Amino acid sequence: MKDTDTKTAAPKRGQRVNVRTPDVMQRVQAEVAEHYRSEVVDKLRARNEGLTIGNTTVRLTKQFGFCYGVERAIDLAYATRNVFADNDVYLIGEIIHNQEVNRQLAEMGVCPLPGDSAVDEIDKLGPDDVVIVPAFGADTPTMEKIKERGCHVIDTTCGDVMSVWKRVRKYAKDGRTSIIHGKSTHEETRATASRAEGKDGKGNYLVVLTLDECDYVCDYIRQGKGDKEDFLQRFSGGHSSGFDPDLHLSRIGVANQTTMLKSETEEMQRRLSTAIRERDESAEGSPNDNFQVFDTICGATQERQDALFEMLENQLDLLLVVGGYNSSNTAHLVEIGEKELPTFFIREADCLKSLEQVLHFDLHQKEEVTTYSKILLGDDPVVVGITAGASCPNNLIEDTILKVFKLRGIDADEVKNH
Ligand code: SF4
Repeated sequence: MKDTDTKTAAPKRGQRVNVRTPDVMQRVQAEVAEHYRSEVVDKLRARNEGLTIGNTTVRLTKQFGFCYGVERAIDLAYATRNVFADNDVYLIGEIIHNQEVNRQLAEMGVCPLPGDSAVDEIDKLGPDDVVIVPAFGADTPTMEKIKERGCHVIDTTCGDVMSVWKRVRKYAKDGRTSIIHGKSTHEETRATASRAEGKDGKGNYLVVLTLDECDYVCDYIRQGKGDKEDFLQRFSGGHSSGFDPDLHLSRIGVANQTTMLKSETEEMQRRLSTAIRERDESAEGSPNDNFQVFDTICGATQERQDALFEMLENQLDLLLVVGGYNSSNTAHLVEIGEKELPTFFIREADCLKSLEQVLHFDLHQKEEVTTYSKILLGDDPVVVGITAGASCPNNLIEDTILKVFKLRGIDADEVKNH
């Protein structure tokens, strides 16, 4: 994919680079549009009532697919390839959680750092190498190691993620433990947790994923202490080193991974706030600023969740949620949908194997499974809702729309020309 006629001369070592110059961006935008744009999706987006052909209707949520943070990360990755056309360009993990986008970048020679541990591979980097930091950021030890190697760094971390870092750093400075609503293995949460340790590394954090885990923490807070070993075992891998629940739950600040389910985050905030208040009211002379909260769900996640709630107010027979199986914000859209109607979490149109057979990710079994459903069968009218996570490109959404119609006997040209 290196275009030798149009490439820009690579910057010299150590030189500070702005890869988003107007000429580079012009080329990049054309490439990005070619890879991910869809006219069918653009058309459907403009029609609130959805698209009905024969007895089949497909509706799209008002908000879906690429968010501003993902768009920026992809633009920067493409621009990097353009500017550093002859250098080795690496990614820390995946640029975003979508296999189609990562595949496309790999084809352009932008690949994840090889090996099981990115940190080991960083030692092999030299000053001519280029490292792209993904939209969810990277933890501080990794960033420091990259800096030591002196390579070019293109940081695509989303501004909304950096706002969370700012908040947890402040908690650490104030001597507060960060309670992070998120998944301890998710890249963004790992990056946020490393910032919660503060500049001096003495800050503490605890990652809480479910309301059950939150209730366990709340009980511990109310009692003032408990079975410390059990606590540490339960949250193994999700707390700062040296974290002591008997000491470090006295003053807390809550933050969250930007892509969590908003209603769950709010419930967690309420439960933790109540537990701290009840504990402190029963202790004489206690200060009552032992709880702080900062809602760090990002705007794009919230908009996609709100748009799905809105679409669910209409009659739908089936919901398809398109996106990477490791995408947190996409999984939360599935959770919202499956409370209301048959919902399938699919990574691409090919998952719709036939009118009956759907290959999809089951959030409860945590694996891809096959389900047989009769909803699309027959000649009765069917309304299919489609939404997609913030990391899903429009071309994958288009493929899904076309596949639904195709299975119902309507070919792609008829959909495109309707
Ligand atoms: S989902 Fe939110 S935090 Fe993540 S990249 Fe998009 S806008 Fe940024």
